[in-house]
Amino acid sequence: MDLYSPLKKFFGFSKFKGLQEQVIKSIVENNNTFVIMPTGGGKSLCYQLPALMTEGTAIVVSPLIALMKNQVDAIRGISEHNGVAHVLNSSLNKTEVAQVKEDITNGITKLLYVAPESLIKEEYVAFLRTQKISFVAIDEAHCISEWGHDFRPEYRNLKHIIKAIDNVPVICLTATATEKVQEDILKTLGIQEANRFKASFNRPNLFYEVRPKTKEVEKDIIRFVKQRMGKSGIIYCLSRKKVEEVAQVLQVNGIKAVPYHAGLDAKTRVKHQDMFLMEDCDVVVATIAFGMGIDKPDVRFVIHHDIPKSLESYYQETGRAGRDDGEGYCLAFYAYKDIEKLEKFMASKPVAEQEIGHALLQEVVGYAETSMNRRKYLLHYFGEEFDDVNGEGADMDDNSRNPKKKHEAKEDVTLLLNVVKKTLQKYKAKEIVNTIVGKENALLTSHKTHLQPFFGSGKDKSSLYWMALIRQVLVINLIKKEIEQYGVIKLTKKGQEFLDKPTSFMMTEDHSYNEENDNAIIT
Ligand code: ADP
Repeated sequence: MDLYSPLKKFFGFSKFKGLQEQVIKSIVENNNTFVIMPTGGGKSLCYQLPALMTEGTAIVVSPLIALMKNQVDAIRGISEHNGVAHVLNSSLNKTEVAQVKEDITNGITKLLYVAPESLIKEEYVAFLRTQKISFVAIDEAHCISEWGHDFRPEYRNLKHIIKAIDNVPVICLTATATEKVQEDILKTLGIQEANRFKASFNRPNLFYEVRPKTKEVEKDIIRFVKQRMGKSGIIYCLSRKKVEEVAQVLQVNGIKAVPYHAGLDAKTRVKHQDMFLMEDCDVVVATIAFGMGIDKPDVRFVIHHDIPKSLESYYQETGRAGRDDGEGYCLAFYAYKDIEKLEKFMASKPVAEQEIGHALLQEVVGYAETSMNRRKYLLHYFGEEFDDVNGEGADMDDNSRNPKKKHEAKEDVTLLLNVVKKTLQKYKAKEIVNTIVGKENALLTSHKTHLQPFFGSGKDKSSLYWMALIRQVLVINLIKKEIEQYGVIKLTKKGQEFLDKPTSFMMTEDHSYNEENDNAIIT
């Protein structure tokens, strides 16, 4: 089937981006299809093009009304008929709903965007069942999973709708790549088989840096932004209050900055977003409310004033930098106290959710404190191996530019792996470290671990040292972390091979942000 003519005709592009062509083929051949592409990878076209080419209406489930509106406007712009794309949601009046239904019935509507909560409506489901539906596309499919970074309970009901609209292929699209989330999505939707496509998550043009967060953080930010006057950037803060404060400090210092958060009225939010897109301001200081669907290609820096609650969020947010493949500087300020603050926020949540939240936060700590190649660390988290010598972007992070000294740690790795094995692979990182340094707690005592000969066998080194070593051997797959067991560490085949025949391992010690900067940390 010729996919290039419609690509040119509808979108004006002459080439597909990344895996788009294979994905589209899978969809037009009526297969369930699972697409994982990083932000900016070109996911929308993967379902828009097949929808425009095939008979019937494609249902697109999307979590954000603003995002749907943007897409509908864009599609309408390339067709002679306004009815080619519609949004179906609670804001429509009766006449409008009737029009949408008429266009679908007449085969004019190719893309029908719906929010998951509207799709549950009995009336809509009954109507859609009688229509020719080409496929159901679920955008931002990670919203189905509690293991993603943006869980939305409404997404859980999609299974029933898909069942009701019998026999149509389902296309899931997400930029969240962890195995756990993928499995969760397919299981929750009741999809047995799907063609899977996963693009590389490497963004070679992005530079990653983590700096200790001190009382001077705002001064640091101002200095950083002033070195890039006139360039576009986003600064993420955790709270609305902080957003307002930082925006003000920047303004006072002559930087064209605007705040953006959900506490501002809709008019102001739209105004500030437009100012950013139209380059009437350089910097948006925002909570995570800002960004989804923002397609500004030349964002030159993304600063995290506060560390986010998961690496997925971090990757998404930094992913908004350098979408045109030009410069994209990702700078995060980190203090362990901020992690404790995030844990406190979770305290009121159900226990299972807290455990998930805690496991995700530990990954953030690992990323922030590591001295190894940050790109390698991040990509490992997304299930991707990265060659930190020859890989694209191998020297694009602070740790690679300023490497810390390394030392031979063959014996320590052996000790560590032995402890993992002898404690029967049932401990999380913290318990393994406590065992090695000989720090008793109720759990270890109840297992009688404190009576074992290896208890305290590495107490000549600090807990931080051992934690760093765990992270480093995780990344080279000598051990693995069972996320679904909230972080229990297991020995891998490669780890057993190491134990059988130990080889050299050069370890870099982590940054110890906790100790160095404790006095200076902002609380
Ligand atoms: P995602 O949803 O994966 O974040 P988008 O669908 O918003 O990504 O696409 C990102 C950008 O890439 C958009 O500006 C889009 O127009 C552009 N794009 C998509 N496909 C192509 C293509 N085949 N050729 C050139 N540009 C493309």
